[in-house]
Amino acid sequence: MSNIFSGGSHDLDLSNGATAVFIDVLMLAVSDLASEDWDFRFAALLTLQDQNVMGRGAVGFDLAEFDWGATERERARAKDFVLRATALAASGHRWSELGYHPPRVHDYLHRFTTMVESCTPPADSSAARGFPGPDEAAMASCVRHRVLSALPLWDGCFLCNRPHC
Ligand SMILES: [Zn+2]
Repeated sequence: MSNIFSGGSHDLDLSNGATAVFIDVLMLAVSDLASEDWDFRFAALLTLQDQNVMGRGAVGFDLAEFDWGATERERARAKDFVLRATALAASGHRWSELGYHPPRVHDYLHRFTTMVESCTPPADSSAARGFPGPDEAAMASCVRHRVLSALPLWDGCFLCNRPHC
């Protein structure tokens, strides 16, 4: 089973294990960069990619189904946020906290960057499906790990919830 992250003509088809790694390193970066409302909604989307909660092989998202924002300025800023978070993740940000060495994750992040860069956020958000609304934003930060989590669905962050922890 695998999970598909797509945008435009690009696809990132990741195994369950690769998905977990990809989302973990992104979450560590997003947790430290998030500052505006949209960022916390994107963080909530990342929490929804936790296969320990959602089921294995049952996650993934499509950039075309994001609610990128109502104005061109908002959309550009949201896209820039995703790119900055991905770049920070690729720099190895907080990888030491994972408790494992993330294999091949540079490749996933590089391919994701290409996907986001080539994506033109749609002005019409009526196609947005499954993108967390303002009320669902991941505003809670786990005290122990300083990682965002979306309450009340999750009682802690992904580091709290991982089975081998
Ligand atoms: Zn935690």
